[in-house]
Amino acid sequence: MPIASINPTTGETLKTFEPLTKAQIEEKLQRASDVFQVYRETTFAERAAMMTRAAEILETEKHDLARIMTLEMGKPIKGAVGEAEKCAWVCRYYAETAQQHLADEVIETDAAKSYVKFQPLGLVWAVMPWNFPFWQVFRFAAPALMAGNVGLLKHASNVPQCAMAIEDIFRRAGFPDGSFQTLLVGSDAVEAILRDSRVAAATLTGSEPAGRSVAAIAGSEVKKTVLELGGSDPFIVMPSANLELAVTTAVKARTINNGQSCIAAKRFIVKQEIYAEFEKRFVEEMNALKIGDPMDEATEIGPLATEQILKDVDEQVKTSVAAGAIVLTGGKKLDRPGNFYEPTVLTNIPKDSPAYSEEIFGPVALLFRVNDIDEAIQLANATTFGLGASAWTNDETERDRFIESLEAGCVFINSMVASDPRLPFGGIKNSGYGRELGEFGIREFVNIKTVSIN
Ligand code: NAP
Repeated sequence: MPIASINPTTGETLKTFEPLTKAQIEEKLQRASDVFQVYRETTFAERAAMMTRAAEILETEKHDLARIMTLEMGKPIKGAVGEAEKCAWVCRYYAETAQQHLADEVIETDAAKSYVKFQPLGLVWAVMPWNFPFWQVFRFAAPALMAGNVGLLKHASNVPQCAMAIEDIFRRAGFPDGSFQTLLVGSDAVEAILRDSRVAAATLTGSEPAGRSVAAIAGSEVKKTVLELGGSDPFIVMPSANLELAVTTAVKARTINNGQSCIAAKRFIVKQEIYAEFEKRFVEEMNALKIGDPMDEATEIGPLATEQILKDVDEQVKTSVAAGAIVLTGGKKLDRPGNFYEPTVLTNIPKDSPAYSEEIFGPVALLFRVNDIDEAIQLANATTFGLGASAWTNDETERDRFIESLEAGCVFINSMVASDPRLPFGGIKNSGYGRELGEFGIREFVNIKTVSIN
């Protein structure tokens, strides 16, 4: 894929970039390696001051940064401003908590003294996606830098200006030259950099095939990885739930970021006695969404990020309909320039159709009717993914069963799945492994060193 900013609202190519040469990559790797030796010696207070400055830049410049995101990948501008604010939050969160998360932990043993010490690993190679082009990077970078690591970013090829803006924020925040660098390279350059002996570990947020590839290469080099991959999250609604709130949240959970979120609710599983009412209201609210220019504050659905994603979503829906799925609303591209796809609701989804088993990365909701909680849990778990799950009920027994039985990295009761700097985030099954955010997140890229003194 060429490295280029292409406005998904118009199809216009805004800027193209040449990938770095081998010599330029070598220079950046060596710079990162050199600076790590110095940066690892900085104190938490010094790192926190720089990270707080990064938060201030994000807050002060959020409108300009949001414009870059929306121009490159089409997310509604309001969401883009919110994304910049959330990045500031994660910077402040780790500026304030890193020292405590990584403080020595004394453990009583037979030794005179024994404890655990957390030390940085070194260069972490971060391969990131375009869908939350700032947030995905900051939720890796804030803990990694606070832990004393240095970061090398390979951002998705369609968001190079976001990638450069992020590097610039860390530079202006005072982080030493080389401690966070963007490498404008295609995915073909990922392997060689991952294999480089100066790179200690890698993190990838993206699709399952990309994750498998990076994990396999890292495995052969015995390097630590964290993988945040795809999802096909269930959203289960039981009769005791607040139906009005459940429907409104369901629409938001499916269409946030134009339907391109790993933790978007994608499969809506509704108990039969409330199914008809849920379906009616859900379709009405999906139809009422305001589609348009993502730069307009009132827009709720903008274009998909690339022409290829639009083609993929269209193909998945067409194939599913040909297999027997019923379209309740939408089901096609919009007849206008840009990568617009109608908010779509499908039901009667056959098991052998793509809609049943694949992740759909666009505003396409799948409705399922179930007879009881056993069937709801079975269907929710009938996927190779296991990222998040949202369940709606006011019955305590049902609530406890969902928490216990849903195969997912997180379960949210009576709200949509969302990330929060204070809580660990990540998946199981083919959604990946490892955790970001919270204390678990900052402890991924550290040497958990056991010390025993006699
Ligand atoms: P993608 O194609 O996997 O791209 C993600 C990143 O990986 C990009 O930087 C891409 O570079 C690179 N890449 C692609 N193929 C690669 C390979 N074989 N080896 C090494 N790097 C490779 O993913 P996407 O389609 O852009 O993003 C959407 C996917 O990400 C969805 O599945 C979504 O659910 C998932 N996601 C997961 C999370 C989470 O936290 N679990 C969050 C957001 C998104 P190029 O752009 O140069 O190809």
